[in-house]
Amino acid sequence: MRIVVLAGGIGGARFLLGVREYAREVGAEVTAVVNVGDDLWLHGLKICPDLDSVMYTLGGGADPERGWGRVGESWTVKEELAAYGAEPTWFGLGDKDIATHLVRSTMLNGGYPLSAVTEALSTRWQPGVRLLPATDDRLETHAVVEDDQGQRAIHFQEWWVRYRADIPTHRFVFVGADTAKPAPGVQEAIASADLVLIAPSNPVVSIAPVLAVPGMREAVTDGPAPVVGVSPIIGGAPVRGMADRCLAVLGVECSAAGVGRLYGGRAAGGLLDGWLVAEEDAGTLVPEVTVRAMPLRMTDEAATAAMVRAAVELT
Ligand code: GDP
Ligand code: CA
Repeated sequence: MRIVVLAGGIGGARFLLGVREYAREVGAEVTAVVNVGDDLWLHGLKICPDLDSVMYTLGGGADPERGWGRVGESWTVKEELAAYGAEPTWFGLGDKDIATHLVRSTMLNGGYPLSAVTEALSTRWQPGVRLLPATDDRLETHAVVEDDQGQRAIHFQEWWVRYRADIPTHRFVFVGADTAKPAPGVQEAIASADLVLIAPSNPVVSIAPVLAVPGMREAVTDGPAPVVGVSPIIGGAPVRGMADRCLAVLGVECSAAGVGRLYGGRAAGGLLDGWLVAEEDAGTLVPEVTVRAMPLRMTDEAATAAMVRAAVELT
């Protein structure tokens, strides 16, 4: 069995722990197609927050409390940069994390594509699933905001980390998406998959930028594999993070039904064949989609693997 998972950062990473657990039980192969819209260059370093969250989490090196970055982190370089007054100061850069960014940046500057760099970094972390960036090309999520400086587009990280998503926002733009190509292996993985899962990641700024790569949405909707999504919204609220603010920008209700309808039923021109919602959201209806309610809190790998088993059974 081959499983492809579309994923963002922390929600994607935790979900993949369960997918890997399920895959070990049944002998399946897993490919994760990870969002790159959050990626940015800072201080000459290429930072890929979602790929790193997935890689560190699956490799056992993530900080479980903070939800991003390395466990046992120190912050010497960040303090030294601040002492120089180097901007921006709002982005967390840990010392151990910086080593990852140094290796990545050196390889990218040497001409390797991000997919090859990710494979090289994975040699250390042994994530147990194949990690692919959605694209090797530049694709950055920007938020079009409005404040006393007028209307302007800012990088997603500035919107999320610096402004905590608390600034009047018109829309999101995926800069570079029109000319980006799926990374090598992505379309092939989807075309030969037995199941495509949409992780309980942020639909607006984690999953949408993956699907914004030309050819990606079609690969999923026209592919042979059933597509099952897992709701990141439980009882009308995100489990963690600010997906509610992202959905509000799109005018989409923050609920399992709202996100399910945003993705849409495959038979109705959307993405989904199946939609897993939490028990609190039992009764959720999405046209043309088989909906099942079950516990959706990823408290441990067994609970998350049970979600994957339910997704398999739904198809
Ligand atoms: P980010 O890129 O680090 O923001 O992470 P993702 O986009 O991959 O995931 C963020 C989403 O994960 C949020 O909208 C959360 O609601 C969702 N999430 C986090 N923990 C859980 C959980 O235990 N269960 C479910 N269903 N969703 C979760
Ligand atoms: Ca992210």
